[in-house]
Amino acid sequence: MNRFENQTAIVTGAGRGIGEAIARRLASEGAKVACISRSESNSAKVAEAINAVHPGAARAYAVDVADKKAVEAVGAQIFADFGKVDILVNNAGITRDGLAMRMSEEDWDAVIDTNLKGAFNFIQAVMRPMIKQRSGRIVNIASVAGLMGNAGQANYAASKAGLIGLTKTLARELSGRNITVNAVAPGFIKTDMTDVLPEAIKTGVLSQIPMGRFGEPEDIASAVTFLASPEAKYITGQTLTVDGGMVM
Ligand code: NDP
Repeated sequence: MNRFENQTAIVTGAGRGIGEAIARRLASEGAKVACISRSESNSAKVAEAINAVHPGAARAYAVDVADKKAVEAVGAQIFADFGKVDILVNNAGITRDGLAMRMSEEDWDAVIDTNLKGAFNFIQAVMRPMIKQRSGRIVNIASVAGLMGNAGQANYAASKAGLIGLTKTLARELSGRNITVNAVAPGFIKTDMTDVLPEAIKTGVLSQIPMGRFGEPEDIASAVTFLASPEAKYITGQTLTVDGGMVM
């Protein structure tokens, strides 16, 4: 299926995990993909792997999504390299867990700046051209933590709840221009981010998942590609949970 032929996508946090799976899936369905990570090597590795299967489909860029000026510059470079952007997937994210009582200002700021401001930075970098071309798809990767809250993740849950508010607001602002804005809220997905959690936490989370197993990055890629596809043209402002039934 080539649902994304002649389309260009930006995927942030595409250096590994969920973002890598999203970038690979979009490319496998015909998209040209700008793969963004913080480190040069991670997005370069993913772009190389994509190009080995779909020659010329991917390019790698390294930028800290929290750095507005740097994002503007990379955004301009992406438009120069690809000519247009049809799909933006804001997936870059970090955790700095700790109880609110002891959470440092630095940990609060780092998570909000990366997860929430980083998404807004990329949205502003693509918004004007999308409005001009009168089409676009924006998908923000939130989290079930943004819906339910999670002890030890005040910064992370606030950033993800913020992303959901941002999604709804932009859906209202941009729907008249044929631009849809949606969020995907993953549950517990097997990546580097969750790999470091203690076994006791993993067992506790598992007991809350009706399907009785953790998700794979490809499960999130399936939801994202659906929301980015023509099939989802009448869906905007929504948050799709992909979590084995954890939140219902
Ligand atoms: P990983 O830690 O595996 O990968 C994160 C990616 O984001 C990396 O490529 C990393 O770059 C990039 N990144 C982090 N900070 C920045 C930054 N400041 N600028 C640019 N890129 C950055 O995470 P996951 O794949 O697990 O998570 C992806 C998204 O899904 C996140 O937003 C996360 O919050 C969300 N999510 C994940 C869940 C899970 O269970 N895994 C559950 C719910 C939501 P680099 O490779 O260079 O380090």
